[in-house]
Amino acid sequence: MYYQSTRDKALKISSAEAIVSGISRDGGLYVPSEIPSLSYGEITAMGKMSYPERAAAVFKKFLTDFSEDEIKACVNAAYASGSFETKNVMELKTLTESEHILELGHGPTCAFKDMALQILPHLLTTSVKKTGERKKVCILVATSGDTGKAALEGFKDAEGACILVFYPENGVSAMQKLQMITQEGGNVGVCAIKGNFDDAQTGVKKIFTDPEVKKVLSDNGIMFSSANSINWGRLAPQIVYYISAYAQFVADGKIAVGDEINVCVPTGNFGNILAAYYAKLMGLPIKKLICASNSNNVLTDFLRTGVYDRNRKFYTTISPSMDILISSNLERLLFRLSGGDDGYIRKIYGSLSESGRFEVTPEIKAELNRLFYAGFCTEEETEAAISETFKKFGYTVDPHTAVAIGVYDKFAAETGDRTPCVIASTASPYKFPAAVLESLGEKNAYADEFEMAEALNKISGLDIPKALSELKAKTPRFTKSVEKQEMLSAVYEMLGIG
Ligand SMILES: *Cc1c(COP(=O)(O)O)cnc(C)c1O
Repeated sequence: MYYQSTRDKALKISSAEAIVSGISRDGGLYVPSEIPSLSYGEITAMGKMSYPERAAAVFKKFLTDFSEDEIKACVNAAYASGSFETKNVMELKTLTESEHILELGHGPTCAFKDMALQILPHLLTTSVKKTGERKKVCILVATSGDTGKAALEGFKDAEGACILVFYPENGVSAMQKLQMITQEGGNVGVCAIKGNFDDAQTGVKKIFTDPEVKKVLSDNGIMFSSANSINWGRLAPQIVYYISAYAQFVADGKIAVGDEINVCVPTGNFGNILAAYYAKLMGLPIKKLICASNSNNVLTDFLRTGVYDRNRKFYTTISPSMDILISSNLERLLFRLSGGDDGYIRKIYGSLSESGRFEVTPEIKAELNRLFYAGFCTEEETEAAISETFKKFGYTVDPHTAVAIGVYDKFAAETGDRTPCVIASTASPYKFPAAVLESLGEKNAYADEFEMAEALNKISGLDIPKALSELKAKTPRFTKSVEKQEMLSAVYEMLGIG
């Protein structure tokens, strides 16, 4: 198996090279040349394995240039070293016969990004060694809030690497901001930009693909790589938990192997739901992929009409990690649905960057309708989903997970489909205590995020994650904020390049 760019199929590289480079120089994303299959026997066997063993079984299929020992070392360092609060890394909670919450927020930064970003640094340093690369790797990240912190935690003090994170000044929650600006580690940098997440992502992509910048870095013994979900090393670990959840259902006798499930994912950059799609392609019996958006509902419109149009109002919502109008990973799906037509992908993404819009062919549109159900929640609907879920089940969810639950309810009401559904829970409610308390009708004034966390603890009975309560005693280290045109100079400054 090799990896190819969605915009230039002639480019063929190994998985290690794809992980080191992050994004292709033609602006395309790396995808595997073929999809490995997963048998029912393998799924059943996985039911008896630990999470790291399940991860190793999946990685073996995609990282064919890694040795078994290399894979084992990576999965154990990430998932068996005690950095996740729960024994099994992920957790499944059943609300009703058809609603099962897949909790993915038990890592060191309390969001599902940890599932991939705890392992990416290990995959990356292993890949760097394999490719014989001597340069220091600089990880450049644009974040809508959760990726930044998860990447900082994953890469802090990693050998031969440093990490720089850009976040939208007014686009992240207070807790998310605190998490980032107090980050520890000798190889980390954090900078706010005056703009939204798309500005940050576009800026990072531009810096990445600029040949002149590449030369300057190279002269200084440095190369860029990406920890955003455009990196294949982010995608592969996300495929694992869908397979793991299904295997767990089989092991627990909730379903028989081969039975279909639905999957519902609160979506922003389209990485998490794309991983579920890859699991389905491998043979995991997924019937519908339910794509849940907030008021930034560009994906809802696209999946329903076949027209992607980012020329619309941008909303800052209570689910900030989904405040995105350019969902990068969609490109991988469209490459697949076009039958691997790189020319077609160049054409529609050229149109997206010129006019902010493209329309897919009727064939692709029909396929999208077959695969996906798409819906969105307004802010009011998101708040209602938080309070309804608490009232009905005594279960407290964060605003992103609430968007998924709200859209799932619409799906169930519209289709009558009661197939067991895995609803991805992507963050701890303690990351967004203000929005959660308000939704639960708590109108008190709180001095800070920590008082809010205490109040939420009294109501929900959920333990406050230690990683968040510890922030209170930390001093901010990174307070710089720049215009979006100044991102490159900020990078050079942080790297100490004149
Ligand atoms: C990143 C994130 C999402 C969106 O995931 P994508 O892979 O970008 O679609 C949803 N919820 C939370 C809490 C996140 O951090």
